[in-house]
Amino acid sequence: MSVEPLLSLTLRDEHAVFVLRQRGREVAAALGMEHQDQVRVATALSEIGRQVLGAIVTFSTTDTPRPQLTIVVSGVGWGSGTPDGVAAAARLMDEVRVEDERITLTRRLPGRNTPEELAAARQELASSAPTTALDELSVQNQQLVAALEDVQAHRDELLQLNAELEETNKGVMALYGQLSEELEQTNQGVVALYAELDERSAQLREANEAKSRFLANVSHELRAPVTAIIGLTRLLLDPRSDPLTGEQTHQLQLVQSSAADLLDRVNDLLDLAKAESNRIEVSWERVDLAAVFGQLRGTLRPLAKPGVELVVAEPPAADLVTDELLLTQILRNLLTNALKFTDTGTVTMGGWVAEDRLNIAVADTGIGIPLAEQPRVFEEFHQVRGAHQTGGTGLGLPYARRLAGLLGGVLAMVSEPGEGSTFTLSLPLRPPPQPDEADLPRTGRALLVDDDPAARHRLRQILTGMADEVAEAADVRSALAIAARDRPDVIFLNLRMPGGDGTEFLAAAAGDPDLSAIPVVVVTAADPADFTGLDRAAAVLAKEQLSRHAVAEVLARIAR
Ligand code: ADP
Repeated sequence: MSVEPLLSLTLRDEHAVFVLRQRGREVAAALGMEHQDQVRVATALSEIGRQVLGAIVTFSTTDTPRPQLTIVVSGVGWGSGTPDGVAAAARLMDEVRVEDERITLTRRLPGRNTPEELAAARQELASSAPTTALDELSVQNQQLVAALEDVQAHRDELLQLNAELEETNKGVMALYGQLSEELEQTNQGVVALYAELDERSAQLREANEAKSRFLANVSHELRAPVTAIIGLTRLLLDPRSDPLTGEQTHQLQLVQSSAADLLDRVNDLLDLAKAESNRIEVSWERVDLAAVFGQLRGTLRPLAKPGVELVVAEPPAADLVTDELLLTQILRNLLTNALKFTDTGTVTMGGWVAEDRLNIAVADTGIGIPLAEQPRVFEEFHQVRGAHQTGGTGLGLPYARRLAGLLGGVLAMVSEPGEGSTFTLSLPLRPPPQPDEADLPRTGRALLVDDDPAARHRLRQILTGMADEVAEAADVRSALAIAARDRPDVIFLNLRMPGGDGTEFLAAAAGDPDLSAIPVVVVTAADPADFTGLDRAAAVLAKEQLSRHAVAEVLARIAR
C-alpha cells in the first residue's frame, strides 16, 4: 500500500531536532492523538533525532492491521550498533524496528482517518511553518510543567488514598479487637455452660437413681394390695362361694379384669426399676429354644386379632447358653407389641444363627412407627401419639432393650409406617465374660481424685464389691488433705484437672513419708506420654478402657 506521506523532513543540524520534535507533535495532534500520545511521539523522535543527523524522517498512516502512525527514519548509516535513543523511544512507542539503514516507529491511532481527513491534515501541516528552537523549548517547558502538575496531582491522590487506607486499617483493628473480646466472652460462656452441664448431668443421674428406687418401692408396695384384690375377687367369683346375682357377678368380673390390668402395669414398672438398678440376676443355663418358641406360640396366639395370623417358625438348632426367663420376657414383649399394633396380616417370629450369635426377628404387617418417633420408642414412658394408642405404659421396649443388654445382646428395629415393623434381637450364644464376684480383689479405703463428678461416680460404681469405703476429692489440694487424714489403701488419680494436675499430687505424695507408700492408680483420658513423673504411679489406666475387669486386675496386681 503506497500512501502519500503526511510530512517529510530532513535532519540537517541540531536545530532540526527541535523542529522534528515539534512536527512530530503536530502530526500526532493532526491525527487526533491525545495530548499524552502527542508528547510520547515528540519525545521519541527527539531521543532518536539527536543521534541520526542527516536522516530523512517520513510520517505516514496505515490502516492495517489497525490504524497507526508510522514514522520512518532513513537514509543514514550509523555503523555498527543501535543508537541509544532507540531504547528510550521503544518505551514510548508501540513498536520500534531497526533495520539496516532505517528505523520504523509505530503508534496506534485512536481511530481510522478518512482520506479527506488525511488530506486536511497534510494541508494543515504544510501550511504551519516550523518554529524556532526557542519556541519549541518553551512548548517543552509547558509540557514539563503540565507533567509536573500531573505528578503532583497523583501524589496528592496517593496521600489521600494512604490516609483512607490508614483509617480503614484502624477500623479493621478496632473490629478485630471487638471480635476478639466477644470471642473471649463467648468462650467463657461456653466454659461456664459446660460446667453447668456437668453439674446438671450429675444431678440428673442422681435424680434418675432416686426415680428408679422410688419406682421399685412403689410398685412393690402396690403389688401386694392388687394381688389381694385379685385373690379376693377370684374367691367371690368361685362357684363354691355364696351365690351372687348376675349383676354382681358381672361387676366383680370387671373388678377382676381391671385388677389384672393394674397388676400388669405394676409388674412392668417393677421390672424396669429392677433392671435399672441392676437388681436383675441373670442365671446362665443351656436353653431349649424350641421350648421357648413353643410356649410363646401357645400363650400368645389368643392375643391375635381376627384376621391376624401368628406364625412362630421352628427355631434353629442352636447350642445356646443364656437366661431363659429373660429371653422369654424380651420375646413376649416384642410379640405382644406386634400383635397389639397389627390389625391384618401376620406376625412372624423366626431365628437364625450367624457368627456365634443367635438372631431372632419379630416381624409384623401392622401400622409401623412414624419415622420421627422411631428413635424414641426405646425411651422410657414414650408412646407414639395418635389413633393407635392402646393403653400400655411405654415401658415394654426400654425394658426389653435393657434385658437384651444384660444378656450381652442388642435389640434393633426397622419400621415402615403403614407397612409394619421388625424388631431383631441378637444374642451371643455364650455368656459374655463376667468377673466372678467371689474372686474379686478387695481393698479397704479408696480415694478417688477427679474434678469430673461423673467420672468419680463411674469409678465408685466400678469399685462396689471391691472397696469397703470410697472417698472423693475434686482437686489436688483437698485430695492431699483427705489422704493425710484417712490414709487410704489405694488412690485413683485423674491427671488433667483445673487448678493443678495429677502429677503435682504424685510429687507431693512421694515427698510425704506418710503418703509415699500408698499406691496411686492414674486414670486418664490424656496421653500419659505428655506427663512426667508418672513412674511414681503404681499403674496407669486409660479412661476409655476403664471397666470392672481392668480395675480388678490392677487392684489384684497391687495387692501382690
Ligand atoms: P407400650 O407399653 O406403650 O406398648 P412400648 O415401650 O412397648 O410401650 O412401646 C412404645 C411405643 O412404640 C408404643 O406405644 C407403640 O406406639 C410403639 N410400638 C412398639 N412396638 C410396635 C409395633 N410392633 N408396631 C407399631 N408400633 C409399635
